[in-house]
Formats: sequence, structure tokens, C-alpha cells
Amino acid sequence: MSAHFFSETYLEAKNRFIQKVADTGGRLQSIPVGEGQLAGPSQEPLTIDVGFWGPDQGPTLLLSSGLHGVEGYCGSAIQLAAMDQAFPDALRRIFVHAINPYGMAHIRRVNENNVDLNRNFIFEPDGFKGCSDGYHRLNHLLNPSRPFKGKEFMSVIKTVWAIIRHGMPALKQAVAAGQYAYPKGLFFGGHQMEESATKMMAALQEWLIGDAPILHVDFHTGLGPFGDYALLLDAVKDSALYEEVHDAFGSKVQPWDADEGVAYGISGGFPTAMQDTFGERIRVLTCEYGTYDPRQVVEAMTAENRAHFYGGNVDAAKAQFKEIFYPQSDQWRSRVLEGGIHVIDQALAFLGQTKGAQS
Ligand SMILES: [Zn+2]
Repeated sequence: MSAHFFSETYLEAKNRFIQKVADTGGRLQSIPVGEGQLAGPSQEPLTIDVGFWGPDQGPTLLLSSGLHGVEGYCGSAIQLAAMDQAFPDALRRIFVHAINPYGMAHIRRVNENNVDLNRNFIFEPDGFKGCSDGYHRLNHLLNPSRPFKGKEFMSVIKTVWAIIRHGMPALKQAVAAGQYAYPKGLFFGGHQMEESATKMMAALQEWLIGDAPILHVDFHTGLGPFGDYALLLDAVKDSALYEEVHDAFGSKVQPWDADEGVAYGISGGFPTAMQDTFGERIRVLTCEYGTYDPRQVVEAMTAENRAHFYGGNVDAAKAQFKEIFYPQSDQWRSRVLEGGIHVIDQALAFLGQTKGAQS
């Protein structure tokens, strides 16, 4: 289904997004990132591109992607496909393309400062601290400081991830929750709020004034079974919020809890920042598509990070990394679109809107 929504470079994805916003009668706003200092591989400027449709106020469907750079190729395709859908005129739609344009352009999950932006939304300046004991212990395995040559080191990582897979949620939590101690390591949350994060929050606060309800879906890849998706919600099971969202979105809903599903609790997360900022008005879902086995995912992350900082076989590391977060499989891609459109339909129903109901 519709392979043509999927792009191979940031520049291609960005140009298609911009063109289609215009073709569908939307309004475009582009927020520069690293202006005058950073660019994509073809020297293209890096921007967070945003499309707006519908009225300036009222119930809002907010879709975002590319917080984790390379994961944005999936969200980009879903946003292009969504622009072909017939939305009710009364519904306000805001689609945010590539919150981390550097990572999407350069095939990294992190941004220009090696920061995992989904660990970076912290509003207290002294809040960028901490690293679990588990991470300290595993740092030398996760982040070896020598060039990436190939598979030679991976058996150790395999062992570690075998442990994680086989029932050590605490360890999964310790590694992936976010750390503020190793600036060249995986899941580094930064030392201050990054440019993308700061500009994104400021823009959202400007766009989302008023008290109308907002349904926000932030698209990611890399956790869970191949082609399947989970809707992660920052709420404990059995809470009123969890029940409400579960009733509307069904069995795909999971809490951010290492014991309960594919994910793990994180610090400095974008979803929590959105929930804290917009309160009762907003429901935030992280739509997480599964790709490969968690062991392969962490191997690819370690290899790419080593290649980035210490060199070696950079092309091999990048190719593997891109496939892990953006599989080429037609089946995976068609399931992604199918799932994404289904979630958007559920979101409309949740906002009290029906598709095709043009007034
Ligand atoms: Zn992600």
C-alpha cells in the first residue's frame, strides 16, 4: 500500500511535506534549527516544518514525528498519507515534521549535540542530573570508546540484551530511562534544554492557546514486534486517565512501565512535558512501531554511536542503523500506514469528530 509516501532522505521527506501542505490548502510554518551552523548532507537548511489546516481554535489533532531523528521517516510517511484523508472542516490539524531535523538528515536518533530529545524536556535548570547504577555498570559495554570495525564486540552486548529480554525490566529501565552523565553515551539527556526542544515548546504554547481539547500523537519506531504498534500513555494502569484512553483506543494502549509493556519510564520526556503544560485539555499518545528484536536495536545503536564518535566502518553502521529504525520491508511499511490511519480515525472519534463530515 502506497509505498510512495516513504522517503529516503531528509531533503526528500521535507520537500514532499512542504509541497503537500500547499497542495492540500494548508499553511506552512518552518522553524529553523542550528541556523547558519548546521545543514543536511546536501547543505539543505534544517527546519522543523509544520502544517496547519482548519480553524485557528477548537478541537485539535496534533501529530508529531522525528523527535528521534531517523525515526521520523516513519512519521513523515504517516503524515503524508494523513493529508489525503477527508477531515471535518471544524477540526483543527497541526502536523509537526521532524522535531529533530539534524538526526533525521544525518541518520542519527539523537540531535546535533548527541542529545536524546525525549530525555531533554526538563524545565528546571538543575534538573539535568542523574544516571542509574545499572547504566554506570554497563557504560563500557554500551559505549565503547574505540572505532566500530564490525561485529567483533557484539557478543557481550548480545548477552546483556538477552538478560534484558528475559525478564529483567529493572535493567531495561536502568539503561534506557535517560542519563545525564555520559555526553557521548546512548540515551544522554543533555545539560540544558536543546534548541529544538525550547523552540518546540514555545511554538506549541503559542499555537495552542485557549481551552479546546487536544489529541496529540507522537510517532516513534524501534520498540515492539515488527510492524505492530503500541500507544504509550503516561498514566498508571487502572487510573481514570488510563481507562478513558483505553476505552477510546483499545488494547494497543500501554503504560510507560518496564514491567507492563514494550517501553520503560523515562525522564525529561516530551509527552510528560506536553501533559504538564496543557493539563486536562490534552491527551498525549506515543505511537511506537516495532521493528527488530531489542538485542538488534541496541547493537545497532551502539555501533552507530561508536562510528559517529570514533570512526571505523561508518557506512555499515549507518546502513544497519537506518534499517533498524526504518525497515525497507513493504509489509512493514504498509502496516505502518494502516496502523497510523487507524489511530487517526480513533483520535477523531475521541475528539467528537467524524471523518468526511465537511460542513
Ligand atoms: Zn523514539
